[in-house]
Amino acid sequence: MPEKSYLYAIPYEYYEDYKIRRYGFHGTSHGFISKQAAKMMGKAVEDLKIVTCHLGNGSSIAAVDGGKSLDTSMGFTPLEGVIMGTRSGDLDPAIVSFLGEQLNISAAEVVNILNKKSGLKGASQLSSDFRDLSEAAEKGNKRAAVTIEMMVHRIIKYVGAYAAAMNGIDAIVFAGGIGENAIIVREKVLKGLSFLGVDFDEAANNCRGKAVKITKDGSKVTAFVIPTNEELVIARDTMELAK
Ligand code: AMP
Repeated sequence: MPEKSYLYAIPYEYYEDYKIRRYGFHGTSHGFISKQAAKMMGKAVEDLKIVTCHLGNGSSIAAVDGGKSLDTSMGFTPLEGVIMGTRSGDLDPAIVSFLGEQLNISAAEVVNILNKKSGLKGASQLSSDFRDLSEAAEKGNKRAAVTIEMMVHRIIKYVGAYAAAMNGIDAIVFAGGIGENAIIVREKVLKGLSFLGVDFDEAANNCRGKAVKITKDGSKVTAFVIPTNEELVIARDTMELAK
């Protein structure tokens, strides 16, 4: 990532002294699915602007510009970014001290709540598992339905922001337990991005766990579901290092 993406706008000496910066996570997955998307498009990854959405219990979104990460949603720790199973993702940092004072607990304890008791679980007061929320929402549970809308809203904002940051976008890729299986999430996200030139293919999207193009032929932006394979990338990288 370039400095403009990985540096936080806090006093620079904290970067020098403590290495506080955006690190990002799921790099093996973002690398794998962006290259697979390029293959499926018959193009070199170096010629493409791709937003990769790894959505599972832990989730991150990356802007992959010409095969390199321009930006990514997880930060100094995996807490930042989109709404996850039990992690809040982005929030106003002032909430940490405010909640600490209200509950009479330390900052570390608040951060623990943000990591382990927030996200889908905290907002729905029900479950960290998307399948439970989806089932509950269908049965009329309002909190579950709103929580799903919150998650989708945040994903749309990130994809839109990254399309802007790359000054264009050729492809959007979904992976991870939610990305590969939650048909409704992909549908809501892609319908919310029609302004970018995403011509969503409802029939093709009706699939789980296989590599498929889910936009119509001729769509300005191509979207894919691509099952990730982090183990394969780790094995390949290990082989390269061992050589
Ligand atoms: P991961 O951490 O990548 O294993 O993803 C776990 C998340 O994927 C959980 O929120 C699951 O509810 C979700 N998930 C797994 N299978 C399905 C499915 N068939 N439909 C919807 N969500 C699913």
